[in-house]
Amino acid sequence: MNNTNSAQRLKSITTTSSIEPIAKPSIIPTQRAASLLQTLHRSLEIDATLNAFYQELSRVVEGCSMTFNNNELNLCIEQGPHRAQHECTYNLREHQQELGRMTLHRHRRFNAAELANIELYLSYLYQPLRNAIAYQKALRSALVDPLTNVGNRKSFSDNLERELQLSIRYQIDLSLLVIDLDHFKQINDQYGHSHGDQVLQAVATVLKETSRRTDMVFRYGGEEFVILLPKTPLNGAIVIAERMRGTISLLHIPAGTQTIRPTASIGVASARGTDSATSLFDRADANLYQAKEKGRNCVISAPQEAC
Ligand code: GH3
Ligand code: MG
Ligand code: MG
Repeated sequence: MNNTNSAQRLKSITTTSSIEPIAKPSIIPTQRAASLLQTLHRSLEIDATLNAFYQELSRVVEGCSMTFNNNELNLCIEQGPHRAQHECTYNLREHQQELGRMTLHRHRRFNAAELANIELYLSYLYQPLRNAIAYQKALRSALVDPLTNVGNRKSFSDNLERELQLSIRYQIDLSLLVIDLDHFKQINDQYGHSHGDQVLQAVATVLKETSRRTDMVFRYGGEEFVILLPKTPLNGAIVIAERMRGTISLLHIPAGTQTIRPTASIGVASARGTDSATSLFDRADANLYQAKEKGRNCVISAPQEAC
């Protein structure tokens, strides 16, 4: 690896710490550099790579803490004690691609030798971090729906299997909502597909905002979404489903001079000890079908219930 080239790709954007001149060369012995590189290349997880980097850097820049942000992956990784008054920030980028923003904080000023060491260590981090970010993006694109930014169907199947196993083994409640937008074909036909897409995005946002941190939102396909509600019994799931249905019905999505007012029908089911992923899903889906039959824009949690 050519350190000079890597170091040149790092751009320091702010250094709020004033620099104390200390003439100490920042050279990592060859053996140490090889071991640092090996450590940094050990994992493709961004957290683990940054943790290894921080552990190594802390040996030469004592008492600092570190914050790494990557907006595209919605990442904010912190290492070490809390933020302090002196900081130096680096925008890590390769050509036009942003790898992230790295800030180091400390109560004491960073001196010149330490800043040189930080930049040297960052040059070693460059390639492993780029690999880890590329890996995370690949994982993400395999599991996230690009239009709505919620989990896709594959991600749903994986999570449903896992949550159902957990719920059976530990006898924890698990509920499932199957949500289908009403007359969505008409929305596309009347306002066009790009406005239809905006409706899907707005609904996904409502679903994320009206669910709890532990709930999981997925796009099952087309205009259908599913929500996994761990540790939630049927009555709790009905309350959440009603909140989602009500909030969707309040949406006003502009389409030229007109406004789209979508509604959704929701089927709810809770896991039983004998359930498979398919039987649980089928029960929620059958309730969704009933909701459509009963006139749409409603929640059904048992086959006999009326809206
Ligand atoms: P119902 O109330 O019975 O659910 O009627 P519906 O019109 O919502 O259901 P239907 O299954 O007839 O139509 C679903 C429509 O969803 C048809 C399809 O064009 C549209 N659709 C599926 N995926 C997308 C997408 O990614 N973007 C847009 N804009 N439309 C989509
Ligand atoms: Mg449908
Ligand atoms: Mg529909």
